[in-house]
Amino acid sequence: MLNIMLCGAPGCGKGTQSALLVEKYNLKHLSTGELLRAEIESKSEVGILADSYISKGNLVPDEMIIEILLKSTDLLANKSCGFILDGFPRTVEQAMALENISKGSPNDINFLIDIQVETKELITRLLKRGETSGRSDDNLDTIKKRLQIYETKTAPVNDYYKGLGKYHAINGMGEVDEIFSRISEVINTEFKK
Ligand code: ADP
Repeated sequence: MLNIMLCGAPGCGKGTQSALLVEKYNLKHLSTGELLRAEIESKSEVGILADSYISKGNLVPDEMIIEILLKSTDLLANKSCGFILDGFPRTVEQAMALENISKGSPNDINFLIDIQVETKELITRLLKRGETSGRSDDNLDTIKKRLQIYETKTAPVNDYYKGLGKYHAINGMGEVDEIFSRISEVINTEFKK
């Protein structure tokens, strides 16, 4: 079972790379951003509340996202070759909750891959995406806020997984297929061990 987390700042390419990894390794893709956008789209109570955080560039509360993740997915009864978690965990509290939920089960998380991209490039990519995404959070002010929150709340998640010996960083600058090769190399090396 291959269970990995893709992490990195907004705009680092988690979604793009997840789609390629799903194909290559027959994984199930779990994106908390997509789960939230589906709730917003359906105008559910949770979606309306989530939108009030997301459109301002804030994270939604930990309890809310953990509940959505558990409710919307069969994380503990997963039948594919494994899964990619994209956009979760985004706080150390979420990481600790995930470890507690999955530890010792076949869905234990193998490792995290941190996709590292320079800030200037992140802003360029997100502004470009904003031209067509229709996302309320892809505008300059909100992007800056998201990047700041990434530094304070999400970057410490990397240290948490370093402490568990489950951390890998890759260079996320360059062409999509180059970055994909770097990620595949980490996965292949890990699974030869
Ligand atoms: P990006 O990586 O471009 O920020 P995502 O689609 O992963 O995009 O997430 C969009 C927004 O959804 C985030 O800015 C945040 O408000 C919310 N969100 C997604 N995942 C989480 C999470 N695990 N915890 C809290 N908020 C989340």
